[in-house]
Order: sequence, then C-alpha cells, then structure tokens
Amino acid sequence: MNIELLAVTPDPERIIEIAARTCYQSEEMMVSGKIGQLLPKLIAMGHESPFEHAYATFRLSDVSRAMTHQLVRHRLMAVSQKSQRYVSEGNFSWVVPPSVPADRKSEFDQDMEGIRALYGKWLEAGLKKEDARFVLPNACTSEIVVSADFREWRHIFKVRCHPRAQWEIREACRRMLRELHRHAPHVFGDLMQEFGG
Ligand SMILES: Cc1cc2nc3c(=O)[nH]c(=O)nc-3n(C[C@H](O)[C@H](O)[C@H](O)COP(=O)(O)OP(=O)(O)OC[C@H]3O[C@@H](n4cnc5c(N)ncnc54)[C@H](O)[C@@H]3O)c2cc1C
Repeated sequence: MNIELLAVTPDPERIIEIAARTCYQSEEMMVSGKIGQLLPKLIAMGHESPFEHAYATFRLSDVSRAMTHQLVRHRLMAVSQKSQRYVSEGNFSWVVPPSVPADRKSEFDQDMEGIRALYGKWLEAGLKKEDARFVLPNACTSEIVVSADFREWRHIFKVRCHPRAQWEIREACRRMLRELHRHAPHVFGDLMQEFGG
C-alpha cells in the first residue's frame, strides 16, 4: 500500500479559524502562536462548516479494488481512478489479505495467476478490456486520487478508522489521518488520539 499526500491547503488551521471568526466577527481575537486552538471548540459544538475551507488530495496505489470500492462510496470526495476499460490488466498485481495463512499464500498467488491467464485468454479471444475485466478479482490492485475537504476527511476517518471497518481501508485511512494530523493537529487531534496509534 502506498499513500502519497499530493496537496493540502496551505496554513489550513488559519484559514478555518478566519472562516469561523468571520461568523462571530471576532477576527481581532486571533492570536499568533495560538492559531487553531478555537477549532476543537467548533468540533465540540458541531459548528463544522468552517472545516470545509481546507482540502487535501491523496494518491493511493498498490491497494485492492475491494478497498477502493468502499472508499468511493464517500460521495463528497472527488475521485479519479485507474480505468479497467482503457488500461490493460494483463500484468495485474494483487493484494493478499493477511488472513490467508502463510503456508497457503503460494496457493492464493497461483489462483491469481490463473485469473491473469483467464483475462489474457479472453483478450486474445477478441473481448475488449472493458469486457475481459469481468473475470478480474477484487484483490486486483488499483490506483486512485481522492480529494476532500477537512470536514469530509473527519467523517471518513470516523467511520473508516473504526475497529469495525475492514482492515485495508482502516490502514489506508489511519495513514492519511496521521499525515493530515501533521498539517492540522487541532483539526484531527481528537481522531488521532482515538484511532491514530
Ligand atoms: C463498517 C461499515 C460497513 C458498511 N457496510 C456496508 C454494506 O454492507 N453495504 C453497503 O452498501 N454499504 C456499506 N457501508 C457503506 C456506508 O453505507 C456508506 O455508503 C459509506 O460509509 C459512505 O458514508 P456516508 O454516506 O455517511 O458518507 P459520505 O457519502 O461521505 O457523506 C458524508 C455525509 O454527508 C451527508 N450526506 C451525503 N449524501 C447525503 C444524502 N444524499 N442525503 C443526506 N445526507 C447526505 C451524510 O451526513 C453523510 O454522512 C459500510 C460502511 C461502514 C463504515
């Protein structure tokens, strides 16, 4: 799994605080060195719209389609994903779930190689990539770029870093949480404490 932060709003906590203080006409109360301290109070009172003024974009690769299928359910997130209609999966790689016993991993790999051969067979038989992909597994890796505002990232982390979430999306979201926490500790501090470790 590779997670790369492509972009984040510069000085995000200052932008969010300016937005919030615009509501209360209290910008003169912003104190250099204490920027961001207001933000946990906004979270506590449910005043979350100011968090929509900061954005972050990540690229995820070497992750399974099973995982990305869950991620793209988040409708307030912008998504661009490697196409299986236009890009050949003739050499696809796959994610092996950690629950596959170590002494059966080679069996899992053989099954995947079998599917790779099946995909190649149907391409050779004249099927377009968009149709040959019907035989591909959920384990097939993908690459995806996702962007969301900080309010939505908070929501995504709340549901996807939770122990009930599936292991792969949980791992991806915990890594993204840790990354965003470095840029905005007051925005993600509570979630980092709950899920980041
Ligand atoms: C543990 C777990 C198990 C799951 N199991 C399944 C499953 O078995 N089957 C399945 O289909 N899905 C499942 N899901 C996916 C889940 O139902 C959601 O589709 C997904 O988590 C996206 O969440 P969301 O809709 O809250 O968030 P987003 O789409 O990210 O939206 C963010 C928030 O915006 C608001 N919002 C967005 N769109 C609307 C709207 N149209 N109307 C009103 N408010 C809106 C809501 O407050 C929402 O929480 C599961 C998710 C989790 C975390």
